[in-house]
Amino acid sequence: MLEFVLAALVVFLVFGFFGLAIGWWSLAAAALLFYLSNVMAFSAVTNVVVAALFIAVAAAMNVPWLRRKLLTDRILAVYRRILPAMSQTEKEAIDAGTVWWDADLFSGKPDWGKLLAVPEPRLSPEEQAFLDGPVEELCAMCDEWDITHEHQDLPPRAWQYVKDKGFLGMIIPKQYGGLGFSALGHSAVVQKLATRSSTAAISVMVPNSLGPGELLLHYGTDDQKNHYLPRLARGQEIPCFALTSPEAGSDAASIPDHGVVCRGVWQGKEVLGMRVTWDKRYITLGPIATLLGLAFRLYDPEGLIGDEKDLGITCALVPTNTPGVNIGRRHMPLNAAFQNGPNSGKDVFMPLDWIIGGREYAGKGWMMLMGCLAAGRAISLPTSAVGGTKALVRFVGAYARVRSQFRTPIGRLEGVEEALGRIAAHCYMMDATRTMTAGAVDRGEKPAVLSAIAKYHMTERARQCVNDGMDILGGKGICLGPNNWIGRGYQIAPVAITVEGANILTRTLIIFGQGAIRCHPYVLREMRAAKEMHGDAASREFDDAFTSHVGHVLRNGVRTFVLSLFPGLASAPRNATPDTKHYYRHVSRLSAAFAFLADISMLAMGGALKRKEKISGRLGDVLSMMYLVSATLKRYEDQGRLKADLPLVRWAVRDALHRAQEAIEGILSNFPVKSVATLLRWIIFPRGKRLRPPLDSRNRECARIALEPGAIRDRLTAGMYLPKGEHPTAVLEAAFLAAVAGEPIDRKLREARKQGLENVLSVLTPEELVQWEKKEALRKQVIKVDDFPQDFGRAELVLDGEAHVAAKAA
Ligand SMILES: Cc1cc2nc3c(=O)[nH]c(=O)nc-3n(C[C@H](O)[C@H](O)[C@H](O)COP(=O)(O)OP(=O)(O)OC[C@H]3O[C@@H](n4cnc5c(N)ncnc54)[C@H](O)[C@@H]3O)c2cc1C
Repeated sequence: MLEFVLAALVVFLVFGFFGLAIGWWSLAAAALLFYLSNVMAFSAVTNVVVAALFIAVAAAMNVPWLRRKLLTDRILAVYRRILPAMSQTEKEAIDAGTVWWDADLFSGKPDWGKLLAVPEPRLSPEEQAFLDGPVEELCAMCDEWDITHEHQDLPPRAWQYVKDKGFLGMIIPKQYGGLGFSALGHSAVVQKLATRSSTAAISVMVPNSLGPGELLLHYGTDDQKNHYLPRLARGQEIPCFALTSPEAGSDAASIPDHGVVCRGVWQGKEVLGMRVTWDKRYITLGPIATLLGLAFRLYDPEGLIGDEKDLGITCALVPTNTPGVNIGRRHMPLNAAFQNGPNSGKDVFMPLDWIIGGREYAGKGWMMLMGCLAAGRAISLPTSAVGGTKALVRFVGAYARVRSQFRTPIGRLEGVEEALGRIAAHCYMMDATRTMTAGAVDRGEKPAVLSAIAKYHMTERARQCVNDGMDILGGKGICLGPNNWIGRGYQIAPVAITVEGANILTRTLIIFGQGAIRCHPYVLREMRAAKEMHGDAASREFDDAFTSHVGHVLRNGVRTFVLSLFPGLASAPRNATPDTKHYYRHVSRLSAAFAFLADISMLAMGGALKRKEKISGRLGDVLSMMYLVSATLKRYEDQGRLKADLPLVRWAVRDALHRAQEAIEGILSNFPVKSVATLLRWIIFPRGKRLRPPLDSRNRECARIALEPGAIRDRLTAGMYLPKGEHPTAVLEAAFLAAVAGEPIDRKLREARKQGLENVLSVLTPEELVQWEKKEALRKQVIKVDDFPQDFGRAELVLDGEAHVAAKAA
């Protein structure tokens, strides 16, 4: 009997692990029953009964027609009843975009060969020339203090340059006069600008993200494209896109802004048009826009263009000089100077031709927005977050070497080192994610889930890094002024968190909510069979998807357990080096655990999982961490496995794997059905939680990278604008190099001080003295903070004895 139980267990584990088809299970079951019958010496009658039962069950499982009638059609009926109704807007959000590596991670068995075979995305020579030329020049024109304090905008010269050089038309194809850049090229431009001026980065990023340009490219009529795209590309039109209104923020599909189809007079002729009323806020570039992309709900009560009375969300292009358009006032988003403000209109008449895509696209606005969201979300905010973080690595690292306390550069004090090491390692992982996600867009993906992961995690990490940076700088970061190069970045961090899907919502609702349906190999098929198909077709499709789904859950459950006991069995690329092979294996194991846990959570909580955001947020965290680790490992491979980068890879990967494990722990601890949680814990962590957070020694290695000039630091911050001239960051860089070069002199002076010499400088040679004095002058300049007259902001502002008019300071 024991042998039988052991044999059954082995069959279960082996067949489950390899995910064998039901036919193989039936054969194995037959063999085991035969064995049992012999061992237990069943009587003839028992044999007949057992055989009959077996044949009945095996037939029910293996013959699709029988299985449908006896089992899956009944499950389908129940499924139809319990499946929560999905609104059209939810459906369009789910249908939007494509899945790629996220589907592999969701499968429980990621195909590493497929990921590593994807070529490393590269900039074209033209894109590189643009970065080295116009982008470099625009960066040089921008001084963030000047912009945010003096001008409250980009200087007019910079605006003109942006328009003239085609910055606003990076995604517009060359045939319309745009730059026709790849997603990677577009991302590299935004990244470089973000290392210098967030105002410039945002002003350039918005027209290249979801808005009139992108919508026209995908849905515009030929007339609309031919008219607007060249004008947008040349900067003759400044676009904005207005979706958000006071009552509809995150729940953007509920906008109360509305239009009614009616007849009216346009340019002296009676035409069919719409009378539109709206009240929008937070619209970036709105105050200076000449072309308003407007989202509103369109109604046709008189049936002038069809039978439907409520056509749905519609997107139109409205020139802002149209009578009745109220635009031009601005908000003040955390002292940032990019243009952002409200706009409104009441019963503004506009022809139907203004609908993007023309009359046929009336009511299709939500589908259009969802269809275009992924590309912009994959680039704009993740990229600017990476740019900001690169600047932090370079400047905070430099400062931590220049600034000394307790006679030690603060970067070498363990507490500071901890924060600095985090910034450096996060930067590596963030840049890897930026590149891989942009590369996916360039290969034609519209990564709905991956773009949400990139947006959420890059902006959160940037916020954590800027917090760390601020802590390292102490008072130097707090006192604003021309010498403070971090304060405005710190202020603006929550803007990226809030826009393009506020982060809490993105984490708890979108990443897993959309991922579970889009990336899961069977859930969407089951839902479609239940809700969109009928009769025999629905029955067949559901049967196939459901039985495959059961096999999938079984396989992932067994794999999770087996791989936790024997991690060496988890898949990793054949040619991975010992440095990273175990990381691939950890992800493979986590992928199986995640896929299993996701299915059991959906089974246990059903539609309620949608409201259990603390659970779905953590499931999203596991998926996200696996994506971030995949991107990091891919970058390490793509860049030729540079040993010098290994500390960054190790820290970032360990940290993310540990976070994934803790997210699973959080799910299990809070799982609503305790008995299921106990079983899950036993399957997922049979040997306990074995992933440890990164070691302090690794953190030190990462911090050292930010503290040492050289190739690794340059590679980590590649693509950023390197400051020149008298800008405080250029002085900082010079002080950093001088501090490093001057360390032997410092040692000599320390020795002299120890020996009690009265004039310690006398131990230096004349050359050393000059070098030391230069270093000290730079250091003093770096640690300086700005001060202002007591009546600052009311009348005149004095900086370093120079008088400036504080024009708009109040
Ligand atoms: C500087 C700036 C620029 C912007 N630019 C534009 C623009 O150009 N065009 C445009 O149309 N809009 C723009 N927006 C609007 C932006 O997209 C919205 O602010 C955003 O959608 C959030 O809406 P809200 O601020 O009203 O927050 P709310 O919707 O009130 O959300 C408040 C909080 O609740 C959370 N939340 C909401 N629903 C859920 C949920 N179901 N589950 C969990 N958490 C939830 C959110 O995550 C957030 O933390 C901009 C906003 C800002 C601040």
